[in-house]
Amino acid sequence: MSEVRFKSVKKVYDDDIVAVDNFNLDIEDGEFVTIVGPSGSGKSTLLRMLAGLEDISGGEVTIGDKAVNDVPAQDRDVAMVFQNYALYPHMTVRKNMSYGLRLTSDLSEEEINKRVEEAAEMMGIEDQLDKKPASLSGGQQQRVATGRAIVRDPAVFLMDEPLSNLDAKLRAHMRIELQRIQDDLETTTVYVTHDQEEALTMSDRVVILDQGELQQVGTPAEVFDKPANLFVADFIGSPAMNFFDVELVGDRLEGEAFSYEVSSKVADRVRDRKTSDELVLGIRPEHIQFADSNSVNAIEATLDVHEPVGDDNYFYLRANDVEFTMRIMGDHIYDEGDDLTVTFNEEKMHIFDRKTGENIMIEDTTANPKSDSTPAAQQS
Ligand code: ADP
Repeated sequence: MSEVRFKSVKKVYDDDIVAVDNFNLDIEDGEFVTIVGPSGSGKSTLLRMLAGLEDISGGEVTIGDKAVNDVPAQDRDVAMVFQNYALYPHMTVRKNMSYGLRLTSDLSEEEINKRVEEAAEMMGIEDQLDKKPASLSGGQQQRVATGRAIVRDPAVFLMDEPLSNLDAKLRAHMRIELQRIQDDLETTTVYVTHDQEEALTMSDRVVILDQGELQQVGTPAEVFDKPANLFVADFIGSPAMNFFDVELVGDRLEGEAFSYEVSSKVADRVRDRKTSDELVLGIRPEHIQFADSNSVNAIEATLDVHEPVGDDNYFYLRANDVEFTMRIMGDHIYDEGDDLTVTFNEEKMHIFDRKTGENIMIEDTTANPKSDSTPAAQQS
C-alpha cells in the first residue's frame, strides 16, 4: 500500500522562515496529485520533505502505514524526477537508469537489465541506451530521467517540475505520456508545478498552495468551477477570472461597471454569509456572452482590444472605466472602439467576501478543508 499522508506538517528554515504551515493532505494509493502554486509557495519544500531530502520541522509524513520523518531518503521507496533531470554525464543511458537500482536492491544483473529495457521501451528510448546524456535532446533526457524512476518500481513517484525545461509542444506531448504511464503503472504520484494548466490537465486532484498554506484540494473541475477563495479563483484558469468590486443593495450587486440583479436566493445567501459590505463578483472570461441592450442585466461596454487566438477571441472590454476580458469562440467581426452589450448567468458567477477572501457561493465546503470548522461553513 502506498498512500501518502501529511499530518499538520510544518517546515521552518533558519528558525524564522515558515515555508510550510499546518499542511494536511491524504493521498490515496495510485492517485496522481499535483501540488501547484506560485514561486515560493512551498511546493518543492513539501516534495523534498516527502522525499527525505529536507527535515520535517513539525507534524508527520507517512508513506503506506509508516511514519517516515526519521527514515533516510534511500529507505523511503520513492523515486524522484527533477527539473534538471540530474543525469550522470559520464554514464550511458543504460547505466544512468540502472545505477540507483544497483545501489538499493539486490536484484540480479539479468533482472536489472530486463527492468531497464522495459522502462526504456515504455519511454520510447530503447535505441538510446548506449548513448551518453550529452548526445540526447532535452526531451530524450527527460525520458531517461523518468525511465530511471520507473525502473525503481517505487511506492511513490515524486516529480518536481519535470517538464518545465521542454518547449511548449514537447511539454504538451509529455504530459499525455506521463499520464499514460501513471495510468498503466498505477503508482501513487505527487507532481509539483507552478503551471496551473499542467495541474488541471494531468491530475486526479489538485492541491493549491499559497505562502506555505493549503488553499484548496479538489478535482480539476472542482477547483475550476468552485474556487474556495479569491486566491484560487485568480490562480486557476487562463485568461484569469474577472473580478469586480461590488456591494449588495437590495437584490442588486452594485459596482462601478454595472448593477446586476441577482435572485433573492443568492441575495439572501450573500446577506447571511458576508462579513462586511465589501464583495467581489467573479466571472470567467468564457462565461460572458453577448446580449440585447434591453435584456435583464445588460452591461454596456466598449471593445478596447480584440485579440484573435485561432478560433478563440479575447475581447478586452471597458465598462465605465472598469476593464474586463471576454472570451468567445468563432468569427466575430468588430472594430476596436465598438460599443457592445454583454451579460452573464448567475450560475456562472462567483461572489467573494473581500475581507476573508472566501467564496460565499460555494455550497460544498468539503472542497475547502480550511473551512471545515468555521461557523460559516457549518451553515451551508
Ligand atoms: P516553491 O517550490 O513553491 O517555489 P519553495 O518550497 O522552494 O517554494 O520555498 C518556500 C519558501 O521557503 C520560500 O520562501 C523560500 O525562499 C524558502 N526556502 C526554500 N528553501 C530554503 C532554504 N534552503 N533555506 C531558507 N529558505 C528556504
